[in-house]
Amino acid sequence: MEPNGILIFGELTNKCGLRPVVKELITKSRELKTKLWNQKISVCVIGPRIKYDDIIKELEEYGADEAVIVNDDRLKDYNTIYYSDIFTQLALKYPPRIILAGATYIGKEIAAYTAAKLETGLTADCTDLSINDINLLVSTRPTFGGKLTADILCKTFPQMATVQEHIFTAEKTQNKSNINVIFNWIDLDKTENKIQITERKEKNSGHRSLSDAKIIVSGGAGACKDDGFSLIYQLAQRLGAAVGGSREAYERGYITKSQQIGQTGTAVAPELYIAVGISGANQHIGSITNSKKIIAINNDPEAPIFNYADIGIKGDLFKVLPELIKKFD
Ligand SMILES: Cc1cc2nc3c(=O)[nH]c(=O)nc-3n(C[C@H](O)[C@H](O)[C@H](O)COP(=O)(O)OP(=O)(O)OC[C@H]3O[C@@H](n4cnc5c(N)ncnc54)[C@H](O)[C@@H]3O)c2cc1C
Repeated sequence: MEPNGILIFGELTNKCGLRPVVKELITKSRELKTKLWNQKISVCVIGPRIKYDDIIKELEEYGADEAVIVNDDRLKDYNTIYYSDIFTQLALKYPPRIILAGATYIGKEIAAYTAAKLETGLTADCTDLSINDINLLVSTRPTFGGKLTADILCKTFPQMATVQEHIFTAEKTQNKSNINVIFNWIDLDKTENKIQITERKEKNSGHRSLSDAKIIVSGGAGACKDDGFSLIYQLAQRLGAAVGGSREAYERGYITKSQQIGQTGTAVAPELYIAVGISGANQHIGSITNSKKIIAINNDPEAPIFNYADIGIKGDLFKVLPELIKKFD
């Protein structure tokens, strides 16, 4: 069978809603499919037996042509092998021309497993996607430490890519048409569940999540001394903000990996991003430019971060932050 269409992994949140990256990928796929003879966009949602009406409605609103729902009580707990096996079976059944997934922990696992099983290539952590003159997917991603971007073509089908959350903007379609819904296309009895989950414990990092934060106060190497990060947390607490940071801040032990923002961390899109003592390296900037407003606090007037900031405060963070904190007391 000729590979046809774009298949997106429809990752769910813990509360069984669609992850934002799924809507972002559907939006981007609407653009890609215009160059692929309008081949269909299918979204595969795998999960426990829940009401899928809202999810299907949302998929339709964002322009998916088909929803493939695999729902069963056995899918209550995510496990890599089981989910990946189901997704691979679906991909074999289609087979799609392109497979896309969010570059989330789960999306990356599923994509890597599926690519290996299908013996095809996978470009991870893409920052853009397009279709070239000979109708192949062009997966763009940073390389050489972010100094260059590479356009990667895959010779085999399906062509696979993962994309970080918040790289593309999700927009509802103006040309909504009726979505085709397929339930339980896969016979779960044919896939072997090799992992048994005996206990589940919520990880309490004690930090607000970056992915849905409206305000983020983020610290860099400049704040990695004295009470720099204590001031950042104090400001964040007054603003109801999440705390993030640069890779330097992570490597020096001031934040956890899940708080790191950037190419090898998380991409963010808050209403307000406050960068404190962050220079503005490419690997950081690429993941914050979808923020609505950026405020930069830095004592080097030449720091590149000021080129991206809506408001630049040129000064010592140890003087600026206490003043700001006082304003919100
Ligand atoms: C493959 C690869 C992946 C990477 N991934 C990431 C990533 O995911 N995220 C990321 O952030 N980086 C990443 N990096 C690292 C990146 O290149 C930079 O090294 C890093 O972002 C710099 O962090 P920083 O801005 O905190 O530190 P610096 O570049 O050292 O900047 C510190 C800033 O603080 C300012 N400062 C110092 N003291 C004060 C003060 N008292 N008051 C105000 N300002 C002050 C300085 O003027 C300076 O501008 C990656 C690099 C590579 C090669």
